[in-house]
Amino acid sequence: LVVIDHVDKHFGELHVLKDISTTVARGEVVVVIGPSGSGKSTFCRAINRLETIDSGTITIDGTVLPSEGRELATLRADVGMVFQAFNLFAHKTVLENVTLAPMKVRGLSRKDAEARAMTLLERVGVANQAKKMPAQLSGGQQQRVAIARSLAMEPKLILLDEPTSALDPEMINEVLDVMVGLAKDGMTMIVVTHEMGFARKAADRVLFMADGRIEEEAAPEQFFGNPQSPRAKDFLSKIL
Ligand code: ATP
Ligand code: MG
Repeated sequence: LVVIDHVDKHFGELHVLKDISTTVARGEVVVVIGPSGSGKSTFCRAINRLETIDSGTITIDGTVLPSEGRELATLRADVGMVFQAFNLFAHKTVLENVTLAPMKVRGLSRKDAEARAMTLLERVGVANQAKKMPAQLSGGQQQRVAIARSLAMEPKLILLDEPTSALDPEMINEVLDVMVGLAKDGMTMIVVTHEMGFARKAADRVLFMADGRIEEEAAPEQFFGNPQSPRAKDFLSKIL
């Protein structure tokens, strides 16, 4: 579904993505881990063209990611993104947050968009909050709304960049549970997270980044049980 081929990216002098190549199959869950500053967020943002790349190509479902224009908007609508900070529209209700893009971009009627939104809010366990404003919700509830909002576009792929790291500990699991559910339902996901429990439980593959490179790529059992590269060993010894 996603083919990333020899991607390079600089921020000025800083070489932040170094010859990145990998593929993500439909239905696959890839967890991206690595030290701070290793390029994980830049990698995710490049897949949604929130960052430009210097060279290489990113292909989503057979279409090379263009740099601008209507084609880019179309492709982006197929790629959901959930960030660390919840990024809900503060002046819209929970329901409006989830119906807005499907009505605007997908051309759904309000009735259809609301029906779909309620089903999704139900699925992430916040249907009873639909009429509230985002600020009236807990962080965990807001993040679940953010996930429902990206699902409402029926994306082919969802990118989640540290979706639980801004949450209080007691709210982390409610969001992880939703993510595990999505993974089980066959959603294609690229997830940057420090939650190794999620990686073990839901990932098909762990992608370890260090210093702008993919240092190691392996199934979770293999990666956690028998890491190959010195940097991965060092990283795991610090966090586990
Ligand atoms: P973290 O775990 O802290 O979120 P990360 O792996 O997501 O880190 P990135 O955010 O991708 O890392 O950043 C990679 C490098 O690029 C870092 O050195 C960062 O300072 C730098 N960087 C990120 N965004 C920009 C930007 N807009 N302009 C300049 N440098 C940037
Ligand atoms: Mg980051």
